Amino acid sequence: MAEDYAEKSFWLGNSGAYQESPLLVNDIKCDVAVVGGGFAGIATAYYLKKAQPSLRVVVLEGWVIGWGASGRNAGFAMTTFGLQMSITKMLFGEEKTRQSHRYMERAVDIVGELVAEHKLDCDYERPGFLRIATTPAYVKRISEEVHLVKQLGLTGVDWIEADEVQKRVKSPLYMGAWWEPRCALVNPAKLAREMKRVAVKFGAEVYERTPVMEIKRSTQGFTIKTPRATVSAGKLVLATNAYSLAIPELNAMQQPVWTYIVLTEPLSKTQLDDMGWQGREGIEDYRNMVHYYRLTADNRLLMGGRDIALTYGANMEKDLNPKIFAQLEKDIVDFYPCLKGIKITHRWGGPVSVPMDMTPALGYLGGKDAVYSLGCMGHGVSLTHLNGEVMADLLLERKSEWTECFPVNRKVFKWPPEPIRFVGEQAILGYLHAEDAWLERKGLGPAKK
Ligand SMILES: Cc1cc2nc3c(=O)[nH]c(=O)nc-3n(C[C@H](O)[C@H](O)[C@H](O)COP(=O)(O)OP(=O)(O)OC[C@H]3O[C@@H](n4cnc5c(N)ncnc54)[C@H](O)[C@@H]3O)c2cc1C
Repeated sequence: MAEDYAEKSFWLGNSGAYQESPLLVNDIKCDVAVVGGGFAGIATAYYLKKAQPSLRVVVLEGWVIGWGASGRNAGFAMTTFGLQMSITKMLFGEEKTRQSHRYMERAVDIVGELVAEHKLDCDYERPGFLRIATTPAYVKRISEEVHLVKQLGLTGVDWIEADEVQKRVKSPLYMGAWWEPRCALVNPAKLAREMKRVAVKFGAEVYERTPVMEIKRSTQGFTIKTPRATVSAGKLVLATNAYSLAIPELNAMQQPVWTYIVLTEPLSKTQLDDMGWQGREGIEDYRNMVHYYRLTADNRLLMGGRDIALTYGANMEKDLNPKIFAQLEKDIVDFYPCLKGIKITHRWGGPVSVPMDMTPALGYLGGKDAVYSLGCMGHGVSLTHLNGEVMADLLLERKSEWTECFPVNRKVFKWPPEPIRFVGEQAILGYLHAEDAWLERKGLGPAKK
């Protein structure tokens, strides 16, 4: 089979040989069918088999494992939930904000535990996370968020001043930061493939290049049609995230939004010394249209974010965006003037799933025999792994601290149908851009050009 996924991200094309699982050619019966082989789907299959080895659990992936956002992201395993903690507090109140942060902390820890327990080969490192202020207005915004963390009685996050940030990584734009040592970095394609290895070891069956075309529910369970065979399943997991537009029950719950990444050639020792990035922290700023950046295992600079792309209707062909790639390439030099002239070797993008209230969601769907996970925004690397454990527990009707925690089984506001949906999204995006421009006018910032 041609490696047609290789161009979808640096990770998918450069993480060693990948052995695809077979496609489904015979009709089968199973206890649980998982639709979608990203982090969420694979983790759910693993946790189901771990909890109840006798179950027949089948993962149906339309392309290959990690083909979606899971194999294309920046690899930050972080605690960020939704857009901003203050927005979660405004929408859902203090207690649910506290719960969501604890949920995310657990999610970050779970990834580390899975890596250690199963010796997952995924370039895992735990250098911590810096949310960096690049203008005085962002100093205020980020320090207020750090204050909110403390006010909620949460720990693990501190504000550090500009001189301390500059000791960790040098840029003329850095004015202070949110510092959170808990967070980790991974090669996401390797993580997804390694989790498939473990799920299969525990007895899950994985079928790749097996897109689900139709799902019918009856009192006996679910009949799931794929191009060459039909699956009869007692229970169902929908782990299609941003690719959920064709699933009527999920369509209105989320909207795909594209984010993009550029990657440099490996940096030289001199360049690395000039940047002074000894601790290799994952870094974001705090624009609404956030920048996120990090070093890869072979010391390339990955720079992502800066702007997003929307879509109309069910069009999912948005993975390349020359305008945003060009902006990101320019931003690299704004952040790090010493990298002027650096070669860009890879450019890619992918969709994240955005609910109307910009808050992740998971839970039962129309009964206790089906569960879903979506709306991870750009922060699903850690979240989806805990979601996998929780979805497994929900299907097995087992309670845990996390099944009872916000955001599990929360009420989800629905996006309106097209064309009102598109108009509404444009309005929200326009507001977010305007707010970024306003905050950047108050000081130096990469968007101020
Ligand atoms: C460019 C980019 C950068 C990001 N950076 C970060 C980051 O640094 N940190 C972070 O926490 N998050 C990040 N994210 C978000 C993160 O990648 C996602 O939240 C996470 O991977 C979602 O995992 P998932 O399993 O829910 O969905 P996905 O990985 O998208 O998996 C869904 C799967 O379902 C399959 N599928 C869809 N429809 C069907 C069907 N009908 N039949 C069969 N299979 C189907 C798809 O092929 C896909 O493989 C980023 C996302 C992108 C795109």
